[in-house]
Amino acid sequence: MTESKVMPDFSTIKYERPSVDKFKECVQATRLKLMSARDPEVAAAALFEYEKELVYFDTMVALANILHDLDTSDQYYTDEVAYCDEASATVSELCSAVYSVLLSSPCADALKEKYGEMIFLKAQNLKDTVSNEVVDDLVEEANLENEYAQIQSEAEIEFNGKTLNLSMLAPYLESTDRNVRIKAHKALDDYYMSKKETFDEIYDKMVKVRTRIAHKLGYKNFTELGYKRMERYDYNREDVAKFREAIRKYIVPITVKIRELQKERFGYDELKFYDLPCIFKNGNPVPSVKMEDYRKISGDLFAEVLGVKPSFFDVLSDHGFTDLISRKAKSTGGYCMYLEEYAIPFIFMNANGTADDVATIVHEGGHAYAAIKSAEVSPFVECLSPTIETCEIHSTSMEFLTYPYMEKFYGENAQAYRELHMTQALLFLPYGCMVDEFQHIIYDDPDMTPEQRHQVWLDLEHKYQPFIKYEDHPFHAMGGAWMKKDHIFTTPFYYIDYCLAHMCSLELWDESEEDYKSALIKYNRLCECGGNETFLKILEGVGLASPFDVDTVKRLAFRTCEFLEL
Ligand code: ZN
Repeated sequence: MTESKVMPDFSTIKYERPSVDKFKECVQATRLKLMSARDPEVAAAALFEYEKELVYFDTMVALANILHDLDTSDQYYTDEVAYCDEASATVSELCSAVYSVLLSSPCADALKEKYGEMIFLKAQNLKDTVSNEVVDDLVEEANLENEYAQIQSEAEIEFNGKTLNLSMLAPYLESTDRNVRIKAHKALDDYYMSKKETFDEIYDKMVKVRTRIAHKLGYKNFTELGYKRMERYDYNREDVAKFREAIRKYIVPITVKIRELQKERFGYDELKFYDLPCIFKNGNPVPSVKMEDYRKISGDLFAEVLGVKPSFFDVLSDHGFTDLISRKAKSTGGYCMYLEEYAIPFIFMNANGTADDVATIVHEGGHAYAAIKSAEVSPFVECLSPTIETCEIHSTSMEFLTYPYMEKFYGENAQAYRELHMTQALLFLPYGCMVDEFQHIIYDDPDMTPEQRHQVWLDLEHKYQPFIKYEDHPFHAMGGAWMKKDHIFTTPFYYIDYCLAHMCSLELWDESEEDYKSALIKYNRLCECGGNETFLKILEGVGLASPFDVDTVKRLAFRTCEFLEL
């Protein structure tokens, strides 16, 4: 969305199947040129030819996915997505072949000097995480991940005479009617109990194959490899352990207090497991505006937050790069997908008039805004966006920075929305840490039995969520709740990134309460950085404290308590 280019309409962008053979030819030519180039200019020119092909390939893959998600009944794009998935595996192998030559190029130092170190860090990282020796194991790992996801997506739960899947059951789990909640949680517990052995078996195989991959690549255990896969360039497991401990010490007591107040609001003797999702007695606040007005209101909201009119969101919407409302034959979920060739993000989501709608709009809006701001930060497309914890600051901070404007969506319920959002952010932190600590313990001792793994989870719940009382829920009571979290199966060690991003976003929120303008300047700087630096260097450059600093956690715990009047 640069000024030099005229912005196209989404509908005019044509998909065509990207050719793997053409990409392969380009990779071979690039490798030859890189190997022989003595002049950094020549090496750079070869690299940029390759980048052009990569950008085209990525854009077509993104386009196939978006077009499929907009209308899942269109068989053509279903087939194209399948083709793209397969082609992407080959393309990423080819990319790693370019990187390995880049690392040993005679021009490496000169290129580093000119374009920065990041692309080299990424090249080395990819080399450290994949090798020919583990290709079969990686296929096995991917198959196990698909198996888990497939079973979850095919869940059939009998409830009130209807057959529901997991996401259809979700609203009943947080119903304002306690009896409905009790029944829904019972149905969920029964469902998972019936899958327990299958999931135990899948997870056991996953732990073993991941450990085998780690050993073959020369790591002591999968945790070490997991950190590499997550591209953690400037912090390690000791830093993360310190962070979790700070959350346990300063945030867990706040969540205990939140639950105590929740119990009082409802007038219950005891807050049970099935009561937890229902924070407010009258249910969680929902937008007071019509869904068809979301687009316009969101555009206005971003214009006011960022002080630019029309806002990036207006421009995206006017050109067809947002699709907000749920409808038949549209894929579920929400995301922001970047079309590299055009430097334009696409916002996809499924608003349905519930409490989540607005948080999702501003979250994905934050991702989109950052993508636009960093579109020209590096000639390497790989370095446009940063590592995941930093990307999640772009989005999560936007959720907090839009607080003062929430009257637009919630009218007189805006304060209830802000309180609910902050409450959920605080409740999330210990949960996220628990998911992370669980995985460290599991991969440190890959030979544990399933029963031992469930015991680990129970012990962690005791530590991070001391208010949970399961009673008549045998699956949860035996320590099974972790099996509901897909990240534990499909994207190991991912979860702490959300916690780190939350903490950094709370810091920006805190600053915005004191001095909104200064917080916004920092936020803009953060988005403009793109992925040219590593996590802690970006924070330092922007002027944000590290979440690994215990005092930061302590200070923000205090400030959030004040905000919620706890
Ligand atoms: Zn996100």
